[in-house]
Amino acid sequence: MIKLKADYVLTMNKTYDILKNAEVLFDKEIIDIGYNLPEKAIYLGKNSVLMPALINSHTHLEFGSNKTSLNYGDFITWLESVIDKREELFVSCKADCYKNAIKEMKKSGICAFGEISSSGTDLKYLKHSPLKVVYFNEIIGSNPAIVDAMYQDFLNRLNESIKLKSKNFKPAVSIHSPYSVHPVLMDKIIEIAKEKNLPIEAHFMESRAERRWLDKGEGEFKLFFEKHFKNAKPLIKPLEFLKKFKDTNTTFIHCVYANEKELQKINEIDGKIAHCPVSNRLLNVGKLDLEKVKNYTIDYSVATDGLSSNYSLNLFKEIRAALLMHTDLHPKYLAKDLLKAVTINAAKSLNLNNGSIEKGKDADLITFQLPDNVENIENLPIQIILHTNEVERLYINGEKI
Ligand SMILES: [Zn+2]
Repeated sequence: MIKLKADYVLTMNKTYDILKNAEVLFDKEIIDIGYNLPEKAIYLGKNSVLMPALINSHTHLEFGSNKTSLNYGDFITWLESVIDKREELFVSCKADCYKNAIKEMKKSGICAFGEISSSGTDLKYLKHSPLKVVYFNEIIGSNPAIVDAMYQDFLNRLNESIKLKSKNFKPAVSIHSPYSVHPVLMDKIIEIAKEKNLPIEAHFMESRAERRWLDKGEGEFKLFFEKHFKNAKPLIKPLEFLKKFKDTNTTFIHCVYANEKELQKINEIDGKIAHCPVSNRLLNVGKLDLEKVKNYTIDYSVATDGLSSNYSLNLFKEIRAALLMHTDLHPKYLAKDLLKAVTINAAKSLNLNNGSIEKGKDADLITFQLPDNVENIENLPIQIILHTNEVERLYINGEKI
């Protein structure tokens, strides 16, 4: 058993309790939170913070070798560059590339991440990850002629990942998007997810091009599909797509162009949203309307997305970007929500038993020190976001990593 004592303990529980000079007692799980608990305390120092470790709900580590290869500034131009460079980037992402990605996440206090795997080549590098992995086997493919082959390949990858299932490695599935997957495949994959109780992730309404294409079969995606697939009809209406995920645990990635009806549907099916502000900015697609998402009482997480559309996998940097981007929201309250977004909300998204300091939760914790005292506790979330890049200690299942 370990007992840590910090100047500030952020529980991230339902009432967002922040305790001053409090203690947390844990082994693999949290045993108790409060004052004068048994055991000798390790005091974390002046202006120390103890909070749940962060969770990066959506990444693509396969693209980890990208630094300057891809075109930013426009979604379709970026997508073209991804198609162009994909193979090259995958081949150059070997052991060191995954090691570096994990090292960066670990340093910034991330205990778990959701990995979108489109090829399965990342499995051998991630199966012994020191961080918890939720491994989303992704399906992509809309051409009826290759649907069977795509499905078979998907099943093989899924089965390989299921063999590795453990407390720290969880298999899951991903449907790339409503514009890139044949509806027959969607149904099959959702059926599997329901049967095996696997979380799902799906990109949804990331760009204006996607909006126009799915609504009217027009715009930049029309040219894109004619060029690459000679297939110029959208396969499904956005609302029909969302309805398919009823009775699943699904996180919709981006949702920048989701309309009222779609947000309402996401809420109705208890769907979650992952917000990737840096990625959205670099691809110049605008930003998610967080106020609306909140009004629909949808839980949103914040994630880095892959290095294919980011320069870093550090979640503190990501939420700092979000804090500065969403100029329509009050920074003090937004900061509170952003810390929830990378802890408890992300845990719900990935179906993990962590993300808050409450009895019975996994002891996935981080500690760090602020440069100075924070007099008014209401300011603590914003000060944490402004002044933290790396953590001092990271505990996963109660073990110091
Ligand atoms: Zn993504």
